[in-house]
Amino acid sequence: MRADEYIQLEDQYGAHNYKPLDVVLSRGSGVWVWDVDGNQYMDCLSAYSAVNQGHCHPRILSAMQTQAERLTLTSRAFRNDQLGLLYRELCDLTRSHKVLPMNSGAEAVETAIKAVRKWGYLVRGVPENKAEIIVCADNFHGRTITIISFSTDPTSTTDFGPFTPGFRVIPYGDAQALADAITDNTVAFLVEPIQGEAGVIIPPDGYLRKVRRICDDAGIALILDEIQTGLGRTGKLLAEEHEGIEADLTLIGKALSGGFYPVSAVLSNTEILGVLKPGEHGSTFGGNPLACAVARAALRVLVDEGLIGNAARMGDHFLSRLREIENPDIREVRGKGLLLAVEFHPEAGGARQYCERLRQAGLLCKETHHDIIRFAPPLVITRDQVDWAVDRAAPILSA
Ligand SMILES: *Cc1c(COP(=O)(O)O)cnc(C)c1O
Repeated sequence: MRADEYIQLEDQYGAHNYKPLDVVLSRGSGVWVWDVDGNQYMDCLSAYSAVNQGHCHPRILSAMQTQAERLTLTSRAFRNDQLGLLYRELCDLTRSHKVLPMNSGAEAVETAIKAVRKWGYLVRGVPENKAEIIVCADNFHGRTITIISFSTDPTSTTDFGPFTPGFRVIPYGDAQALADAITDNTVAFLVEPIQGEAGVIIPPDGYLRKVRRICDDAGIALILDEIQTGLGRTGKLLAEEHEGIEADLTLIGKALSGGFYPVSAVLSNTEILGVLKPGEHGSTFGGNPLACAVARAALRVLVDEGLIGNAARMGDHFLSRLREIENPDIREVRGKGLLLAVEFHPEAGGARQYCERLRQAGLLCKETHHDIIRFAPPLVITRDQVDWAVDRAAPILSA
C-alpha cells in the first residue's frame, strides 16, 4: 500500500484526536526510522521521550521475546518472578523505598494523587474530602478527567467537564507562589522538573531546591512528574539530581520500557505508598511479567551503555550548535541534556512550517504549542549524528 492509502484509512476510520505529520513509518533502529516508501529520517522526538534507548534496542527486544515465550500476564491476584526483581533494581537505581507499577503515565499520576490524598487524611489529619493538591500553570500530566481538571490549556479541557475538585494552580517556576498557596488542607505539590509539553520550559536555578524546602517546612509531599524528564533525558537519571534533591513521590513512565510496552511506576521515598492497602488500588496489567522484564532490560541499557552521560554531552553539543543558528525570528534556544527547544517569535508564522521542511530534509520533529520545536532524539545519538542533524536543520531554521 502507498503512504496516502494508509493516511486515508486513518482519516476514514480513526478519531481525529491527533494531527500527525504525514509520514507513515514502518521500521526503526537506533535514532533512525524509515517510512513505507523507504525514506530514512532521524527521529528527533523519540515518541515524547519513550524511546530514549533508541528504536528496537536489541537487548530490550531480546528480553521481551524471551519473556513473551514464558509468561506474559498473571494479574496481581498471583505473584510472578519478574516483579520483585524490577522493584529491587528500580529502588537500587533511584534510591527509592517503594514502587507501585502501572502502565501509562496518566495512571501513575492518578495513583500518586490517590496515595497523597489518603496519606493526607490518615497521617496529616486533613478533614474528609478536603485534601488539596497544588499544581502549576501550563502543566502536562496526562489526559484523564481528573488530570485535565487541573490543566490550564483550554484545548485539553473545553467541553470535557464537569471536573474533579481539589486542585489549586500557581505559576510555574515561582517558589514564593507555592509558599503562599499552601493551606492546612494542602497535601502535596505536583510539578514537572522541566515542563516538556509546555515547550521545554526550564525553571530558574534553585527552584526545585526552594520547593523542596517549602514542602518540608509545611509537611506536604513533593511529587515530581519525571515521566518525560526522567530516565536520562536531561543528562541525569532523574532531573531532580540537577538540584540535588529527592522528591517524596517520583513518577516515571515512557522510557521505562524503551518504547516497547506501556510501563509506568510511582516511586516513593517515604511511607506515602504504604497507606495503600489490598484492594484499594490496582491495574490488571500493572506489574505484569512481560512489562517487568522489558523495564528491567530498558533500565540496564540506560546504565550499561552510558546513555545518561551521553545525553549530557550530546545535549551540550546539540545546544551550542543550535545556538549558532542566526535568525531574528528565533526568540530563544534552550535545553537540558537532550531535551531541547527552539522557540520562534509569535509573528514568525508558527513552528509547523519548519517541521514540514525539516521532514523534507530527513529530520522528524514536532511542534509543541504554536511556536516551539522540540529536539529530543534518542539518547544513543552520536556526535556525528548530532552534527548531521544540525547541518541539515541550520539552513531551514535560519531561513
Ligand atoms: C507523557 C506525559 C504524561 C502522560 O503519559 P501517558 O503515558 O501519555 O499517559 C504525564 N506527564 C508527563 C510530564 C508527560 O510527558
